[in-house]
Amino acid sequence: MTIAGRDGLPVYGLWIDGKAVEGAEPVLVRNKFTGEPMAWVCTASREDVDRAVSAAERSFRSRPLSPFERYEWLSAAATWIRARREELVNLLVDEVGKPHKDTVVEVDRAYHAMLLAAEEAKRIGGEVLPVDSIPGSERKMGFAIRVPLGVVAGITPFNYPFLLAVHKIAPALAAGNAIVIKPAPQTPISTLVLVQGLVECGGPPGHIQVIQGGAEVGQWMLEHPGFRFYTFTGSARAGERIKAGTGLRRVALELGNSSPNIVHSDADVVRAVRICAARAFSAAGQACISVQRLYVHAPIFDEFVERFVERVRDLKVGDPRDPKTDVGPMISEQDAVRAETWVREAVAQGARLLAGGTRDGAILEPTVLTDVRPEMKVVCEEVFAPVVTITKYNTFDEALAMANDSPYGLQAGLFTRDVGRIMRAARELQYGGLIVNDASTYRSDLVPYGGVKGSGIGREGPKYAIEEMTDLHVVIVDLTEEGEDR
Ligand code: NAD
Repeated sequence: MTIAGRDGLPVYGLWIDGKAVEGAEPVLVRNKFTGEPMAWVCTASREDVDRAVSAAERSFRSRPLSPFERYEWLSAAATWIRARREELVNLLVDEVGKPHKDTVVEVDRAYHAMLLAAEEAKRIGGEVLPVDSIPGSERKMGFAIRVPLGVVAGITPFNYPFLLAVHKIAPALAAGNAIVIKPAPQTPISTLVLVQGLVECGGPPGHIQVIQGGAEVGQWMLEHPGFRFYTFTGSARAGERIKAGTGLRRVALELGNSSPNIVHSDADVVRAVRICAARAFSAAGQACISVQRLYVHAPIFDEFVERFVERVRDLKVGDPRDPKTDVGPMISEQDAVRAETWVREAVAQGARLLAGGTRDGAILEPTVLTDVRPEMKVVCEEVFAPVVTITKYNTFDEALAMANDSPYGLQAGLFTRDVGRIMRAARELQYGGLIVNDASTYRSDLVPYGGVKGSGIGREGPKYAIEEMTDLHVVIVDLTEEGEDR
């Protein structure tokens, strides 16, 4: 994937038509903790986007893969990921700045997501349609088949660049499509390395194209008529642009959240504290389902807060390469400054700072706020930083109402032993997923994952993404035999 060297660093090209090619002026990708240069990465021009779409279309038309070939390709890629686990973890730790322990989870989940997509490639069925049950159609038989779409566009964010590239590429290929993927400009290398692995595993190289760049390149992708489907993960702001810019073409949008987690007094408080304190700050809070708003039942509020703050003070902050580190840098100093400003603003508006709030470069200390109000940015917007708020509630009705008071609806967490409360929350919380007795941050790669309200459209997880990435063709056959109805 590299085309040359510059200043002693590799230069990654674009991956178009089975070759690494030069794009526009390369940009430098840096280690997010040390700031040291890692590699130069070329960005795409509008012409490169055209070239990538044409090459994907040609590959899709000329080299259709049978379900078994897709299965073999993707399962070989899963094995490739597992064999390079440590190497991939080290690359991601440097490229994202995410702590080693969180990155191991990302790479292991990517392996499973790849394997799930391989397995699903063999299970793309359809449906028998009982059209003969309608009077007058007794001699007709109906069925529906799933067919690939053609060229899919994948656009990914910086925070889980490897796993989310797998969640776009693997189902697209499993469904029989070709894909053009654009990683986030902060973290493109891991996607290029992943695609290199897929190519080494023997599938048609033209089925995957990688074009690097920022929002401008994304915008050119939206304007290109050659894409049949857009699979996007990123911010709500960009998601709105994508929906507005793609007309009648289908989209899957996996957007942000401001994840609420309710801890009721019948829960195991010690366990809830341990899980929430880890999940509010893993990946420096830069996960779409990171614990952001904690709602704690009044009888256990003081105990919860005391234990939580104690736990947060024990978190190890610093070098993400150290396997003991819990909280590393945010993706950039600019992002850390933005989060710090929101914390200061909340404090100025009356919030009480129980831990953190200070910043050193891109590292924001794990921050805990209480006495917050719903209109504060740290509550009503997606903070996407190691910042958590804790609010007391008296009744379960109040907790549900506060959790729902958000433009988002991706996942929520609930700690309780009461099945009645669990079932009420399952129905009444306006979220795509409810995680009970674990934090909102839990995700299994095989479930239909996605949000309601401002958190997006469509569901990810190989089985469900394949449904989104295929067309349903209905076939109705009249079985009337010759002379039967004359
Ligand atoms: P972002 O929206 O800034 O960028 C995401 C991707 O979209 C990047 O590749 C970017 O270059 C591209 N992009 C930006 N503007 C675009 C436009 N107008 N047209 C086309 N492409 C455009 O997001 P980010 O800062 O990289 O990632 C953080 C966001 O991602 C958070 O909001 C987080 O919640 C969300 N996220 C959601 C999930 C999920 O599964 N729901 C998972 C991870 C991250």
